Amino acid sequence: MHNIFFFDLDQTLLDFHASEKIALGTVLKENGLSYTDDVYPAFKAYNKSLWLELEKGTVTRTELFTKRFIYVFSLCEGDHSSLDPLKVNSDFIKTMSVNGVLMDGALEFVRRLKDGIPGSRIYIASNGATINAKGRIASTGLDRYIDGLFISEDMGVTKPDPAFFDMCLEHIGETKESCIMIGDSLSSDMLGAKNASLDSVWFMPSGNIEEAMREYDIDYCASSYDELYDILRKWSLQDT
Ligand SMILES: [Mg+2]
Repeated sequence: MHNIFFFDLDQTLLDFHASEKIALGTVLKENGLSYTDDVYPAFKAYNKSLWLELEKGTVTRTELFTKRFIYVFSLCEGDHSSLDPLKVNSDFIKTMSVNGVLMDGALEFVRRLKDGIPGSRIYIASNGATINAKGRIASTGLDRYIDGLFISEDMGVTKPDPAFFDMCLEHIGETKESCIMIGDSLSSDMLGAKNASLDSVWFMPSGNIEEAMREYDIDYCASSYDELYDILRKWSLQDT
């Protein structure tokens, strides 16, 4: 049977950046600071540079969380002298986790997949923080269509490590032949599927698509949920 679907979460079913933007505006306003539309892009760029530093080991997680809010405070009007950046960071993460934002058409797509493919099961396979992922999924109603969550923080292993998918398959008691991985990221989703010898769909591909498909051994590409549905339906009807 071809009926087990592993979906990446962010920028595949949920819009991570939209949730971040809502949460940032909310916590800044709650703390009496101004929030304008140019704050989020600046936060995003600075935050990205800090995560790269974290990967290199030049900042700690606590420093990253502190620095990103000290920086944001400096961009806003209002008195921030008494604000604790770590407290605001923690409020930001909590606010984000109850403000999930669906990608356009994601809910209808998932419903259609469940209805249209007999016996289909949908699992989330995501790198990230468990509370953040679970909260955002529940706040959008996506949880009604999902059979289980595999989140790297819980599992202690991240995509593209093949151990990530080995653990998923062991947990659900399925063979890799019955599963397919769908995601937007080459470095985690597509490489993870390749490492674990799973079939794969690259969602919303960009750049040199043909070259990436060869390099990452990608089976299919889809640029919309309609296209993705057709691909998954055909894949589910294959004999082997
Ligand atoms: Mg993603």
